[in-house]
Amino acid sequence: MSLLGELRRISSEYAFRQTKKLSQNFLIDERVLKREAGYANATNKSLLEIGPGFGFLTKELANCGPKSITLIEKDPQLIPILEKELASRKITLINSDFLKWQSGSFFDVVISNVPYSISSPLLFHLTNFRFSRAILCLQKEFVARLLAKPGTKDYSRLSVTSQAAFSIRLLEKVPHSAFHPIPQVDSAIIELIPTGKKLDARTALLIQLLFQHRKKTLRAALSDSAEQLGITKENARKTAEKSGLSDRRVFTLTKEEFATLAYVF
Ligand code: SAH
Repeated sequence: MSLLGELRRISSEYAFRQTKKLSQNFLIDERVLKREAGYANATNKSLLEIGPGFGFLTKELANCGPKSITLIEKDPQLIPILEKELASRKITLINSDFLKWQSGSFFDVVISNVPYSISSPLLFHLTNFRFSRAILCLQKEFVARLLAKPGTKDYSRLSVTSQAAFSIRLLEKVPHSAFHPIPQVDSAIIELIPTGKKLDARTALLIQLLFQHRKKTLRAALSDSAEQLGITKENARKTAEKSGLSDRRVFTLTKEEFATLAYVF
């Protein structure tokens, strides 16, 4: 049976009702699912899958002979479905909101067809986890922001903070027709490898405030943010001069330059 057929069978058998709020667009293109599982290189690995839905990706992962699979799914309707559909497989199933979930365990690979509505907080929350690699399918526009280079229109606070925390690589683009229901936009699969560096709170705040003035020079942006940074405008000016970056526009600064600035600061 095609995966669309499977999806219809499961939905009617369990009287499943789609919850829009949970960004439930299920990936039903078998070739994409197989490639995605392939990227995880799952044999003998401990896996964490976020938002397994009906378990289509999970089945592909289970076929690769992983050491363990932990699933975290928020929708309580999907728990009995996953229990039954994945019955013969060794799986730990947790019914919880990933954003509120903490785990001391190490995972070789984190994998997810990410519920789009939580893309940003999910990435941020991932920085609290210990893992070697993550394979994530996200909206194409979001991926463009993650990968954006300094000086381009997509370069944002998200780009700097994500690129500081992870090395990010594009693996493949996925057309919107690969999902059901078909979402408005296309997706892309990426790989994340933690850099092991975490931005300290002060640098993170600096980046957040400065990007509210992304087109301004650093001198002007720092001066505009002085109050929120708890410094005088005079100090803001001095900091900009000292960094040697005062004439640069905020959106052209590299993550290393933000680090220099935070250091001067
Ligand atoms: N991986 C599946 C489903 C993707 S849809 C597939 O590829 O077909 C996104 C899934 O994430 C849904 O099952 C949705 O219920 C779940 N989800 C949404 N928000 C979540 C959250 N905060 N924590 C855990 N799961 C969540």
